[in-house]
Amino acid sequence: MASRVCLVHYHEIGLKGKNRARFERILMDNIKAALAAFSVATITRISGHILVSFSVAGQAEQAFPIIGTVPGVARVSLAYHTNRDPHEYCEAARKALNEFGDFRSFKVVARRSNTDYELTSMDLNRQVGEYLCEAFPDKKVLMKGCDAQVHVLVVQGSVYVYARSERGVGGLPQGSAGKVVTLLSSGIDSPVATWLLARRGAVPVPIHFSGRPQTADTSEYLCQDIIEALRPGVQIGRLYVVPFGDCQREISLKCPSDLRVIMYRRIMYSVAERIARLEGAKALVTGESLGQVASQTLENIMAVNEVVDIPVFRPLIGSDKQEIIARAEQIGTYDISTEVAPDCCTLFMPRRPETHAKLDEVHEAWEMIDHEAMIQHLVDTVEYIDFPAPTYKPPRCLRERHSELEVRYCIRAHRDDSSESLEVE
Ligand code: ATP
Ligand code: MG
Repeated sequence: MASRVCLVHYHEIGLKGKNRARFERILMDNIKAALAAFSVATITRISGHILVSFSVAGQAEQAFPIIGTVPGVARVSLAYHTNRDPHEYCEAARKALNEFGDFRSFKVVARRSNTDYELTSMDLNRQVGEYLCEAFPDKKVLMKGCDAQVHVLVVQGSVYVYARSERGVGGLPQGSAGKVVTLLSSGIDSPVATWLLARRGAVPVPIHFSGRPQTADTSEYLCQDIIEALRPGVQIGRLYVVPFGDCQREISLKCPSDLRVIMYRRIMYSVAERIARLEGAKALVTGESLGQVASQTLENIMAVNEVVDIPVFRPLIGSDKQEIIARAEQIGTYDISTEVAPDCCTLFMPRRPETHAKLDEVHEAWEMIDHEAMIQHLVDTVEYIDFPAPTYKPPRCLRERHSELEVRYCIRAHRDDSSESLEVE
């Protein structure tokens, strides 16, 4: 009797030469983590694919769409696993085609991964094709441009047969590229930027600046919801939250109003850079898109960027809003991001923010606040919330693990440990 399995296809990993085994191992671990809610029986490698089998009937069908959201997965197929008995695999092919949905034409694509099977790929194509022609007499066989393809893959003693196959998100397995600190607002753009870096193999460590105590903490909960929405395909282990409202108030009182936003951003970048050092993260990530809002002109980006030494990635810099919205909808964050929440972006906003900041004026305004003390204070009072995520390893000085998401932890107690040379596991 045929059992159901998911066959995972990956492309880029295959290109990584000697790294291949490592990448495959990370991908298998990530698929396992993404399927934590399922009874996975085995995750194994077979002939350039990863095979996932389940110990409970019906779970392969449910897990199939989830596997496609795991970075590194180029394609996932819902397959039947049979032995080499021709009746078994031909019957599996009939069932596979039957569940494909609407189609008028089809073809069989057979492949043997080893040659100890007496039938060649061509023989298999013919054999399974004839069976299907009898089973579906009103459908046409078409070699080019057919609606459905029935794949038959012979690997050692097993045959895998599938017609349902979906593209995955592609990219590289999360955790294969190191950490990045992402500046996560609860807006539309930064969750997309965070997801894009995760898709390239990075472990994103988000930091959110809240208007608390000058505003409510709604945006902090939206950020948690965004992290939950990215799961289980993309897993984030920790959200840093910086209560920024009082510092914004101080800046708004001391600095020229048109430069306030740039001052807020310089402080945000500086704090994020310190957290990145604690975390062992090698870059910052923002959701900026050129010219989208007043603060995102080239001049303003430059005026903010100069406070940090670490690379700052802006994966959306050349994207249009519509493209970003489409991606936010795809990854499930759009509806959360469009909820109204007061956060530090809406707090103490000048009526006319500077759109083309001049550096000497920016430097003058910067000296009007004790920025060094402010940055240090914010780093000392940063809070964090942990989420289960096997790819994330917290820095040694901030290693406690807590299951209560709502409980906030202050790192002040760890201050003595928090020198910049901290090792990360
Ligand atoms: P987003 O939709 O990501 O909020 P935006 O179009 O609203 O972006 P800005 O508000 O100018 O643009 O923010 C630019 C970037 O700065 C954001 O994409 C994000 O990376 C970072 N950022 C802005 N506000 C915050 C915040 N409160 N906490 C953390 N990062 C922030
Ligand atoms: Mg914003």
